Amino acid sequence: MVIAELEMARVQTVVDLGCGDGKLLSRLMKEKQLTQLVGLDVSVRVLEIAAERLRLDRLPQRQRERIQLLHGGLTYRDARIEGFDAATAIEVIEHLDENRLVAFERVLFQCARPGLVIVTTPNVEYNIHYSFLPPGQFRHPDHRFEWTRAAFAAWGQRVATTFGYGVRFVPVGTVDATVGPPTQMAVFTRDDLQGGEA
Ligand code: SAH
Repeated sequence: MVIAELEMARVQTVVDLGCGDGKLLSRLMKEKQLTQLVGLDVSVRVLEIAAERLRLDRLPQRQRERIQLLHGGLTYRDARIEGFDAATAIEVIEHLDENRLVAFERVLFQCARPGLVIVTTPNVEYNIHYSFLPPGQFRHPDHRFEWTRAAFAAWGQRVATTFGYGVRFVPVGTVDATVGPPTQMAVFTRDDLQGGEA
């Protein structure tokens, strides 16, 4: 899903924000058109796991030069994540305190300003299908919030309008007729790239 969007936009450089243990990065490594990949996370532990998963110490030099893991946070401006064609934040925003989300928006959409931004987050409406979850409980203890489709759409529209991006919303996973998909994705395209080549 995410990879298809990156392919469609013909991006060459991607920064994966809150990359975790490197699941997406390991798949992106196989995409030959991608020339530079960076993963950033606040947790040293998950970055160690990512380095192992990606076998960073065993990669041939040309592959090794394509990828970098960075320790850092998402709510302070960071020059290392600027200048990329695309940024992804996969199941990350719900880990940020809602009052820090505004800082993240500025860091990403105002300072880093990639042409394409892909954000995914759980659709809380779908939680009724998880019988193990007591009503009102989130999917993960570290989640600070989980949004309905309407809440995510409102957030995405506001961010897009504020920072000069267009946005569309894409369901991820099997769509339930009533409550929608388990995961929701927003694809932001910077206004100067809309309708043209990324
Ligand atoms: N994108 C990965 C991981 C999602 S879990 C995946 O899809 O598998 C959320 C990740 O965000 C965790 O690895 C966590 O360490 C990271 N994270 C949470 N708050 C952060 C912050 N303020 N700055 C950077 N990373 C953060």
